[in-house]
Amino acid sequence: MNNFEYYNPVHIVFGKGQIAQLSQLIKPGQKIMLAYGGGSIKTNGVYDQVLAALKGYKVIEFSGIEANPQYQTCLKAAKLANDEGVDFILAVGGGSVIDGVKFIAAAARFDGDDPWDILRTSGSTLKEAIPFGTILTLPATGSEMNFNSVISRRETQEKLYFGHRCVYPVFSILDPETTYSLPANQLRNGIVDTFVHVMEQYATHDVNTPLQDRQAEAIIKTLIEQADNIMIKKEDYDSRANFLWCATQALNGLIGLGTVGDWLTHGIGHEMTAFFGLAHAETLAVIMPGVWTHFFQEKKGKLAQLARRTWHATGDIDTQAQAAIDNTVKFFHSISMPTRLSDYNLSQDAIDTIVNRFQERKKQLVAENSRALNQKWLDRYWIYADNYYSNVISAYFDDFFRSS
Ligand SMILES: [Zn+2]
Repeated sequence: MNNFEYYNPVHIVFGKGQIAQLSQLIKPGQKIMLAYGGGSIKTNGVYDQVLAALKGYKVIEFSGIEANPQYQTCLKAAKLANDEGVDFILAVGGGSVIDGVKFIAAAARFDGDDPWDILRTSGSTLKEAIPFGTILTLPATGSEMNFNSVISRRETQEKLYFGHRCVYPVFSILDPETTYSLPANQLRNGIVDTFVHVMEQYATHDVNTPLQDRQAEAIIKTLIEQADNIMIKKEDYDSRANFLWCATQALNGLIGLGTVGDWLTHGIGHEMTAFFGLAHAETLAVIMPGVWTHFFQEKKGKLAQLARRTWHATGDIDTQAQAAIDNTVKFFHSISMPTRLSDYNLSQDAIDTIVNRFQERKKQLVAENSRALNQKWLDRYWIYADNYYSNVISAYFDDFFRSS
């Protein structure tokens, strides 16, 4: 097991009716910015519950945070928060709204010249952010219990990550009933995103972490077991509760402690969303089986273990590992998630575009090196980019997508 530190200060408030607890969670007299997305919270009753619970507070609103939250939108919100002297932000929505609020909270207190530097340095130069809480309405990203955020910039077709301890939510309210009105494609996307978050931390190489492995497998097995009820039954409290908690557990840091992470599937997937507009989970379902196939030799030990414990696979290691890939694809299909680029009418040009992006980014990193951005971050990213993104990706695309 590798060395690790674990720190997670997020106060989780789970269960039906818990939105009413807001006044216990936010200090009296604070000025709150209520931030949300396209307005679905107004039709599913969540908005009314929130306003009722915030009676007595000064509340301003910022709506319109997109799926794949946009940089320019978040900057507008950060300006509003500063102009209005907001003390606290309440994010109500799914991972996109929460990711957006993390950036808004950080950008509002950022003392550098260009807030884009927060993303270019992956958050390593941040010092503080406006405190915020979340009410989660779409289980998927785990953003409610971590400090990760991914922001998109339309003008440059970029989608970049940042993270910092100052953007842990103060609290997150998880009420399974808020998920009842979600359409099937969002439920499907949430299940796949959760599945892949677990696997990006699991399907690498074994460093003797049997507890973390079994915690990861427990999430996968629970997802598979609950998937039918999540997808078919509209107001099934128990399956939604289990789904919510799986999604949170998948990316609150716990299952990855001391293990070796990968995140290559997410790295490629973010580019696919930035260029071609596929939903985040749609990109993951196309890419991950390919990553596993391409890195079969490196990953087969963990994949075989997953297959034995999850699908009772037998045979030699290669056969078992292949069973993990086949059963994962089958599971994605069972919840109507496509797994091929051709399902989205994307062709050779799309592959070249993404390969070029990784090559450009490598060149850009060399140029930026001379500007002495955060050196530690740059060194780490450089190694990552060099090993994975630049050299391997082309071969990976050759092997997988061109034959698909
Ligand atoms: Zn994800």
